[in-house]
Amino acid sequence: MKTRTGRHFLQIPGPTNVPDRVLRAMDYPTIDHRGPEFADLTREVLEALGPVFQTRGPVIIYPSSGTGACEAALINTLSSGDRVLIMETGWFSHIAWRHPAEKLGLRVDYVPGTWRRGASPETLEERLVADATHQIKAVVVVHNETSTGVTSRIADVRRAIDHARHPALLIVDTISSLGSIDYRHDEWGVDVTVAGSQKGLMLPPGLAFNAISEKALASSKKAGLPKAYWDWEPMLKNNASGFFPYTPATNLLYALREALAMVHAEGLADVFARHQRHGDATRAAARAWGLEIVCEDPREYSNSLTAMFMPAGHDADRLRTLILEKFDMSLGTGLGKLAGRAFRIGHLGSFNDLMLAGTLCGVEMGLRLAGVPHADGGVTAALDLLGAPARKAEPVLS
Ligand code: PLP
Repeated sequence: MKTRTGRHFLQIPGPTNVPDRVLRAMDYPTIDHRGPEFADLTREVLEALGPVFQTRGPVIIYPSSGTGACEAALINTLSSGDRVLIMETGWFSHIAWRHPAEKLGLRVDYVPGTWRRGASPETLEERLVADATHQIKAVVVVHNETSTGVTSRIADVRRAIDHARHPALLIVDTISSLGSIDYRHDEWGVDVTVAGSQKGLMLPPGLAFNAISEKALASSKKAGLPKAYWDWEPMLKNNASGFFPYTPATNLLYALREALAMVHAEGLADVFARHQRHGDATRAAARAWGLEIVCEDPREYSNSLTAMFMPAGHDADRLRTLILEKFDMSLGTGLGKLAGRAFRIGHLGSFNDLMLAGTLCGVEMGLRLAGVPHADGGVTAALDLLGAPARKAEPVLS
């Protein structure tokens, strides 16, 4: 392996840079997960976790990657043969939702999307109105589609379901938005929110979450898909006294406690405002370079990552490889049908202005070295924006 100096720039859209404070917090002896000290840890973590989802309801913590929590959301609420409407937003609506849902024996209505826009509330409403006998039991939307950098408007999705007077559950994947982009589980009437530890929450990979509404909990009592490890019931029962039904990821829970302390010390509203500035600055750079942003609708720009197209005839992975070799920076690859055509800059989690400036410098130098046609001035455009006074953060409701 090559010797490198300084820190690697991990600018993929997750896993993200883990703050030293969080790394240090894990570096303690593992304790008895059935002892009294553990119960305090669980209680502290669960108390601090709810407000990040903006919920007063229960949040379940699994020792798993995000995909496990996606599966948990489906099998706890649905029965074999149930119809599920999944909005196509990109790679993750397919690989984390459609594919597992089909394997689990659910009947999937995959509502086509262009990979350049979020879930359309209008199309969703039409589909639900057409389902007069309420065969559709759940609607699944990826809040922030990590493959495209498009954020769906969940408040509008909720309104569409309400306008259609449809009783389907609303399941939302916030794996790349939680702790980065404003998200309101209770206010938006979401039934199951799925999240992971390795992005906005600034932890290493290894924890995943389900935030659950009362309606989802009631569905779980009747849901017929087989479940054991992912079953909410023993988890909630054990959590009530501070424990888990199986061995929890103790050291990751230390890390989670520390990361949540950091989020709350900064304040959720300021966390969202910081991500907004970094999103704005990255998009300003893309425009100045003349690279087309994948997201077509400015209302749906993602503040946790930006995906941009390469000019025709230029391969995104060649650019990424050159940037990795020359500048020790990892950028996100194009996924699925965007492979080779687009690259992604992750600007989420533990991240600041100078890290963004360095990231954009690496991209600009890479574009030049790779001979990719572009205009100069992307970094300058971003710096102009970063140098402007920060906007006042909107208060977060709960
Ligand atoms: N959904 C989204 C939106 C994601 O970004 C990811 C991973 O990046 C997943 C699902 C799958 O999560 P994991 O890779 O942690 O299993």
